[in-house]
This record gives sequence, C-alpha cells and structure tokens, in this order.
Amino acid sequence: MDIRNCRRCNKIFQYRGSKYCPSCMLDLDQIFIKVRDYIYENPNATIVDVSQEVGVEEDIILEFLKAGRLELSSPGLDYLCERCDTPIVTGRFCNNCIKDLEREMKKGLGESAQTTKKLGKDSNRMYTADLRHKKRGI
Ligand SMILES: [Zn+2]
Ligand SMILES: [Zn+2]
Repeated sequence: MDIRNCRRCNKIFQYRGSKYCPSCMLDLDQIFIKVRDYIYENPNATIVDVSQEVGVEEDIILEFLKAGRLELSSPGLDYLCERCDTPIVTGRFCNNCIKDLEREMKKGLGESAQTTKKLGKDSNRMYTADLRHKKRGI
C-alpha cells in the first residue's frame, strides 16, 4: 500500500495518483469553482487578488493553471511561460514554446534521450519534497 502525506493538509492517506487526500480533493473541487467564477467576474484580477479574495493559496491556483484546468482572462506578470517568461493564461508554456517543444520532440532519438533525463530530474525533485515533509514530522 502506498501511503503519503497530503500536500495541502499533511494528513496521511492512501495514494491513488493524487497529491491530495480525499477530503482535500473535495475542498479543491469547491475552491476550483470559486476561483473560476471569480476570474470570470473579475477578468483583470491577478493571481494574488484571486488568492486573497477567494481565500486560497497561490500555489493551488498555479496548479489549476499549470494543469490546464483553469485559464486566466488576460495574461499578467504573475504567471509566466516556464521556458521564456512570456505572460500566459494557462498551461506551462506559451504558444511559441509549445511549438518549439513539439518540433524538438519530433527531432529524433538524441533529443528524446534528453527529455527522459529531464523527467528523471523532476521525479527526483518530487521525491526530495516528500522527504522534506516527512522530516518535518506530522
Ligand atoms: Zn488533505
Ligand atoms: Zn515561452
């Protein structure tokens, strides 16, 4: 059985592919609706505004955005492409970088080996984050 700490409330739960425990998942669904409605009603709100008005951590909003679940009404300086720092409204990269990345992916074996290396690094980072949670002692 894979037991992890919830990334939001730190409670221990049975891991099923989500970083959050079942009760936080329910909360997050509600938060998502509130955040989405707030952005819809306040198209010029920044992520900080949304975080303060809705009462939700900026990290959570960023996660909705990066997952492509949520979209800002207009690009702002607090949400940037991870590759070139262009303001974007959803996902992790701007349209130009998405095109570039797709081109690179198609380039062949050499490039795909690099991508695999990058992915390895990412999972390492997640593992370290997990350890840090454990060390803090819950
Ligand atoms: Zn939780
Ligand atoms: Zn970009």
